[in-house]
Amino acid sequence: MTMVRTRFAPSPTGYLHLGGARTALFSWAFARRHKGTFILRVEDTDLERSTPENTQVILDAMAWLGLDYDEGPFYQMQRMDRYREVLKQLIEEGKAYYCYASKEELETMREEQIARGEKPRYDRRWRDSRATPPAGVSPVVRFKTPLEGAVVIDDLVKGRIVVNNCELDDLIIARSDGTPTYNFCVVVDDWDMRITHVIRGDDHVNNTPRQINILKALGAPLPQYGHVPMILGHDGEKLSKRHGSVSVMQYEEDGYLPEALLNYLARLGWARGDEEIFTMAQFVEWFDLGGISRSAARFNPEKLQWINQQYLKQTDGARLAQLARPFMLRDGCDPGKGPDFARVAELLRERVNTVKELADAAVYFYRPLDPEPTVLEQHVPPDILPVMAEIAASFEAIEWTREAIHDVMKSTVAAHGLKFPRLAMPLRVLVTGEPQTPSVDAVLALLGKEEVVKRLRHQLDRLKSGFIPE
Ligand code: GLU
Repeated sequence: MTMVRTRFAPSPTGYLHLGGARTALFSWAFARRHKGTFILRVEDTDLERSTPENTQVILDAMAWLGLDYDEGPFYQMQRMDRYREVLKQLIEEGKAYYCYASKEELETMREEQIARGEKPRYDRRWRDSRATPPAGVSPVVRFKTPLEGAVVIDDLVKGRIVVNNCELDDLIIARSDGTPTYNFCVVVDDWDMRITHVIRGDDHVNNTPRQINILKALGAPLPQYGHVPMILGHDGEKLSKRHGSVSVMQYEEDGYLPEALLNYLARLGWARGDEEIFTMAQFVEWFDLGGISRSAARFNPEKLQWINQQYLKQTDGARLAQLARPFMLRDGCDPGKGPDFARVAELLRERVNTVKELADAAVYFYRPLDPEPTVLEQHVPPDILPVMAEIAASFEAIEWTREAIHDVMKSTVAAHGLKFPRLAMPLRVLVTGEPQTPSVDAVLALLGKEEVVKRLRHQLDRLKSGFIPE
């Protein structure tokens, strides 16, 4: 059996969005599944819209997602000589021809066709013409599409697609300045790169019969095709920024884990039973093009967030700390100065959806925060302040463990006949500034005795000097 060779062929004309990343993932997984080769090819021939920045973002996104490629990146702009060589060959073999029709001529032809009620298309006037070419006109090169027969595509996702050649025209494969066109470059590349499976978005499905005809004319082996349905927004509209569809790298900025995004993308339009959370190793083992749904998938940001949360819960503290550190530093908070950030991250990971939220939630470990007046009002009644002073003194005397902290809290509520939350809430609010944190004894244990006592005393002093809520 021939070795599987797939490719991801993005055009660097914009950011790499979720749809592109999912196409890349499916191509990659298919190659990995069959122990084949995955190739990255940058289709940068649209000089006006392609930028080096966009190319870099594609490379960064591939690296961030861990979609490793075995060959490439190849750049189409570096392969121009090869495309010209193949063009020449097609012309010499009479499979492509120069077309000298001027813009005006084509426009007139079009108007006449419309007037006759025909579908406008190039009438092949130069296909077999023996006329002398007009002087001073730089011709385009057109491909001789077969006049009869049909292209049959057994699409690995969509099933059989039949297109009659009489519906296709003689497409331009080189512009008048000699540059090859998009469909032609793709064909030469897929041929030279010995691609066996073209897995791409179904926005390209109309190009496929044209590309197959050119491949046949070249005597090239035909790859198999799998056209993956689009990703739509939750409202069924084409996915756009409005739906939160942004550059893949924005998800890193927003604190998503690459493995969570991959897991989400894998599930988007592909299913294996009810499996929701799986590793990429499992996905590779299970992935088959037949499992891709034939209808468009809908992007659901809440689901993505939920999957991210599932992954966060399983991620060890050291890695979380490493991921969250830049977010903390950006907020002017140094997680190197204070409790071990890995342990803080482990304490917080159950409660957050993203790494960014984790960083936000960790701030009070590294920077004392004054509670908001409304929070004080709600949770710190004046009569609890003497109890807070007392507990600060008791804390000073103990060995600092979570259990010992808990014992002090228990004996203090017992001594004052209080319910536990009546003590825990003001303690939490005074030490952290926040009404919501993980279990207060765990938070205090991590913060350290000195810091807790210092913060408590500082807040008590502050309240004494006039901050006591009414
Ligand atoms: N460059 C094309 C795109 O970005 C993909 C072409 C292909 O996969 O054949 O949409």
